Amino acid sequence: MQILKERIKKDGRIIGDDILKVDSFLNHQIDPALMDSIGAEFYRLFSDVKVDRVLTIEASGIAAAVMTAKYFGCPLVFAKKSRTVNQSASVYSSKAFSFTHKTENNVIVSREFIRPGENVLIIDDFLANGCALRALKDIVLQAGANPVGAGIIIEKAFQPGGEDLRAEGLRIESLARIKSMSEKEGIEFL
Ligand code: 5GP
Repeated sequence: MQILKERIKKDGRIIGDDILKVDSFLNHQIDPALMDSIGAEFYRLFSDVKVDRVLTIEASGIAAAVMTAKYFGCPLVFAKKSRTVNQSASVYSSKAFSFTHKTENNVIVSREFIRPGENVLIIDDFLANGCALRALKDIVLQAGANPVGAGIIIEKAFQPGGEDLRAEGLRIESLARIKSMSEKEGIEFL
């Protein structure tokens, strides 16, 4: 998605070798017009599937996911992160190691909000090692629903998550795929 790549080049900041900060339009301050375009693009990319529900994880995926759900005309559910183990029978839960915070989160979704047999489209802001996406896919499967695909805004293709999850059969559509990045050389897209 060209406007997204241009925005990443213009406003993204590279920290070390593997963290991209996009706080000015995605992760702290949010550009609503860009989020709307992202929602429209995911709708176009997944126009061949019936989507009953969009699922993301708090907090940074929510803005783009709500726009995506608006285009599909379906609800958006966001998984919550909790440091304590929630063994309540009323939730689905899965563990995910946080790439940015270096902590393990328990990711939870109320059983009320994913139903067996539904087609669920997963949306997230970044794909790095794939822990967040794998936890969301796991929750969809626990619910007896179908993970019909994952829409990722920025995939860091030099990290293994995308390749691993595609090899496991998950359809992933990423709007910007980063081949390499460094503070010195900048960003190269695939
Ligand atoms: P993964 O679970 O695939 O290793 O990492 C994905 C999650 O970590 C995303 O939900 C995102 O919040 C965060 N993340 C991973 N890499 C980056 C990055 O380079 N920049 C930012 N801002 N977040 C990232």
